[in-house]
Amino acid sequence: MKSRWSEDGARDALARWAGGADEDARDLALRVYTSRLIGADPELVLHGGGNTSVKLRARTLLGETLPVIHVKGSGVSLDAVGPRDLPALELEPLRRLRALEELDDEAMVNQLRTRLLDASSPNPSVETLLHAFLPQRFVDHSHADAVLAATNQPDGEALVREALGDRVAVLPWIMPGFPLAKAVAEAVEKHPDVEGVVLVNHGLFSFGEDARTSYERHVALVDACERLLAERARGRTLLTPRAAVDESDADELHRRVALAAPILRGLLAEPPAQEGELPARGVLAWLGDPETRAFCASEEAAALAREGPLTPDHVIRTKALPLFVAEPDWKDPERLRGQLGQAVADYRADYDRYFAENAARQDAPLTKLASGPRVVWLPGLGALCFGATDRAARVAADITRHTLRAKALAQAVGSYRALPLSELFEMEYWSLEQAKLGKAKPRPLEGQVVLVTGGAGAIGVGIAEVCAAAGAHVALADLDGDAARERAEAVAARQGPGSAVGIAMDVRDEASVRRGFGALCAAWGGLDVLVPNAGLAHVAPIEELDLEEARRLADVNYLGVLLAIREATRIFRLQGTGGNVVVNASKNVFAPGRDFAAYSASKAAAHQLAKVAALELAPLGVRVNQVNADAIFAEGEVHSGLWETVGPERARRRGLEPEELPDFYRDRNLLKARVSARHVGNAVVFFASEQTPTTGATLPVDGGIPEAFPR
Ligand code: ZN
Repeated sequence: MKSRWSEDGARDALARWAGGADEDARDLALRVYTSRLIGADPELVLHGGGNTSVKLRARTLLGETLPVIHVKGSGVSLDAVGPRDLPALELEPLRRLRALEELDDEAMVNQLRTRLLDASSPNPSVETLLHAFLPQRFVDHSHADAVLAATNQPDGEALVREALGDRVAVLPWIMPGFPLAKAVAEAVEKHPDVEGVVLVNHGLFSFGEDARTSYERHVALVDACERLLAERARGRTLLTPRAAVDESDADELHRRVALAAPILRGLLAEPPAQEGELPARGVLAWLGDPETRAFCASEEAAALAREGPLTPDHVIRTKALPLFVAEPDWKDPERLRGQLGQAVADYRADYDRYFAENAARQDAPLTKLASGPRVVWLPGLGALCFGATDRAARVAADITRHTLRAKALAQAVGSYRALPLSELFEMEYWSLEQAKLGKAKPRPLEGQVVLVTGGAGAIGVGIAEVCAAAGAHVALADLDGDAARERAEAVAARQGPGSAVGIAMDVRDEASVRRGFGALCAAWGGLDVLVPNAGLAHVAPIEELDLEEARRLADVNYLGVLLAIREATRIFRLQGTGGNVVVNASKNVFAPGRDFAAYSASKAAAHQLAKVAALELAPLGVRVNQVNADAIFAEGEVHSGLWETVGPERARRRGLEPEELPDFYRDRNLLKARVSARHVGNAVVFFASEQTPTTGATLPVDGGIPEAFPR
């Protein structure tokens, strides 16, 4: 590992954040800079892991100066910190706490909050007291892979000593909080010349009087561990491949993920807490790179699956143990389903036992977390990582990638050994984590995956926007894959990263539809809500209707809906957790218009198809409903392609100018309402959140048009 410090970078940081020559302001700017350097290195910290601090002076409103410590706020990722993410706390009152015999976590967090200089600051890191008790001006903390690969061994301390000599103090595992802060302060007082402290099974602290020294010591200590491990590993086999489990090409891998991911996603959904509620679903992130696949298919995987994470910090994201499925049968889908079902059931039973045993030792009652695995190792596919959101799944995947590499290395140089499960339980059920549970009210489509065909069009974008705002992960599928991706990026920019993806799909083509749904399984593991929305229009009286035009519309408006529902059903069946189909039909189905036969008839065919689907899919718990919307012309910047095609002709036949059409359509309904794509989105959210036991129904979204009343 190399230092990422550069004079240019430091100068830029000073120019950006220091705003003056004051030494304290300069040190805060450099603290931001080196915090970001640590955050930029995934070998050091991942997603909110690690923390940093600097001790400065602050001026009060009354003009007095007092010593303060700036510490990273909890939950903030180091790679993105700014000065405001390093809230200041009064240092002296925190240091006086060291005189206490004990201080529980809640009282400690309260002390931290009451010593903040700015009441609106984020909560300071729970490791704040550790930083405060150390005398040095700068303190840097990471969960470096190499340090953990060295400490997580039966003789971890000896290995660290061999790598780092007496440059560091080494402490055994102690749960973060007041006792750890005291133990570290005592160790450093005993050895005032050390450059840092290694915490076994946890990570590394380094310190110094200036930003660069503290950071570069950190990097040098990690580098020394990396070198020792590399030297020890030389000539040894990191992973022993097992025969015949991983001879797959890209197509075969995609076939496998489209099969295994929906099965697993269904198995990992938590049953509803109360009857009538939706199951708690999540998404899967797939790690299918050659390195992950080689690890999962190795002889070593089975033993390493029984050992815990690199650092207990990861337990919240990945659970203590992954699920390892020894010999998945990729040739026989039914057998694979049985294997996965049994493996998840066994994992859940083990987890329930682990909870019961460890919870019994606690004073306070605990809220049990979901018992399913978060990370599944599948020889022949790689790893599938589960989370309630795209972000949670991706964090679990990133941690998994580093965990596999470090576990393999640790095993090769010795024998990988994590903390015992009883210690990991303390972290998983830490009172500070338990306090966060149940605070946020879930949004109506939380954890659900929605696919909208015609996703790049005006109505598709409106539906995607509303579903994403309701907590769903939305795939915008469109014939124009680039437009779909572009629109998905725009939705994700507004609704949150990871809330939308774009997929190329031609609903007229069986292979393309299969590939599109396969891509969805690779992205998120399955599907809960299908919205067949792609549609075309054509204006011509029957007498002049060109057969090719009529066929073109039937291919998209009717057969395209059929293909999408057929492929979605395959996924619904694999998942076994129900689902919803909401067809965007048309007001035209009940109230056809003249010169619009190709459109009206193909929409009516889709409408009838959806009713048959309601009959056939009910046994799977899948509901099929329809939305009959009146004309929608645009959603934000996106104009309806359909109306751009037929608008001028429709206007002409009504004796109007095209720009008069929106008002014409508004004025003809009972409520004088302008119908928008978001209204269709609201209808989709209503059906998909299963607020009423309804299937086979049609909801008009048209402002009230008597001749289009469903009948
Ligand atoms: Zn830590």
